[in-house]
Amino acid sequence: MSDTPEITREIRINPIVPTESVLVATARGMRPKKAEERVERDTRAVVETCPFCRGNEDRTPPSIRSYPENADWDIRIVPNLYPVLGDDRSQTNIAFGLQQVIDGYGRHEVVIDNPNHGIALHEMDRHHLANLFMVYQQRMADLYESDPRLKYVLVFKNFGAAAGASIPHTHSQLIATPVVPENVQNEVHHSREYHRKYAQCVFCSLIDEALTYEATIYDRESGQIRHKVNVGQYVVERGERFIAIKPFASRFEWEIHILPLRHQADFLRASREDLEDFAQVLRRTMARLDKVVGGVQYNFFLHSVPHGSEFGDCQPSYHWHLEICPRTSIPTGFELGSGLFVSTVSPEQAAKALRDAQIDDD
Ligand SMILES: [Zn+2]
Ligand SMILES: [Zn+2]
Ligand SMILES: [Zn+2]
Repeated sequence: MSDTPEITREIRINPIVPTESVLVATARGMRPKKAEERVERDTRAVVETCPFCRGNEDRTPPSIRSYPENADWDIRIVPNLYPVLGDDRSQTNIAFGLQQVIDGYGRHEVVIDNPNHGIALHEMDRHHLANLFMVYQQRMADLYESDPRLKYVLVFKNFGAAAGASIPHTHSQLIATPVVPENVQNEVHHSREYHRKYAQCVFCSLIDEALTYEATIYDRESGQIRHKVNVGQYVVERGERFIAIKPFASRFEWEIHILPLRHQADFLRASREDLEDFAQVLRRTMARLDKVVGGVQYNFFLHSVPHGSEFGDCQPSYHWHLEICPRTSIPTGFELGSGLFVSTVSPEQAAKALRDAQIDDD
């Protein structure tokens, strides 16, 4: 490939949810976005006034669980002080998209990721990260078991003010609902359709493609090379059991998905060994992001097969994954109005920059 980055201007269809598309426009003058303001990360380990720091446990509702169950906890789960959902008696309502407004029955909990106030994900110890995802697993299983009405437990993290984090201390959240969030519903629906047609999992197909795909597209008139797809050009990081991929069409310039290499629909079935490898791939991916984008604010979302009888046939078609969505720019009126996201960095260039980043090896 030549050193001058190719200018791309094309509409790409999300292969998993074909109703979603993104405009990849890397040419100068095609930048309808405002860069997100860089905010210095608060790297202090302890903040006296912070309700999530050790020693301030009395400033949050009592713990649901802590690991270990003593004052030197590493991870702690507490109810959200301002839940978007509550128990049966509460009157809150939650809307997912235009059509689905459900009564606010559910659970909303906060997971305090780490006792260290300002630690970033890539700075966390690998075993700690594996433990964190085990804690998610256990809590998700408990919530599903506690009430058959709960169909989905969404685990997500907002890191940085631009990503919606209201408390700077590193934390993530669990929201258990009787409906499946619209974007997961879309993935479930389209991957089921894909499986019906092709008898394979669309996520597995994408992984295969990311690892083996190679193509040259020629211009029909001039016969010149218009586009080259190289082996592994969407791969950001890989471990023994997991792979981090830059999606071919994604809403956010630096969006990355981490998936198990072997087909698995339900995150709850991931083993300890799986999560150790996952943790390493996640750490290294976040370190790459930090090197390339720097002090990045992001959201991550854990997508796993929903529970409930209507999803019983999704085991072969759905494939759990973590979506990491860095907030590096502010959506414009065009994006919000058209629903067409604009990417000013081509996914191929983004993946290459991330792959080429030098990170400390451990
Ligand atoms: Zn704190
Ligand atoms: Zn699969
Ligand atoms: Zn997803």
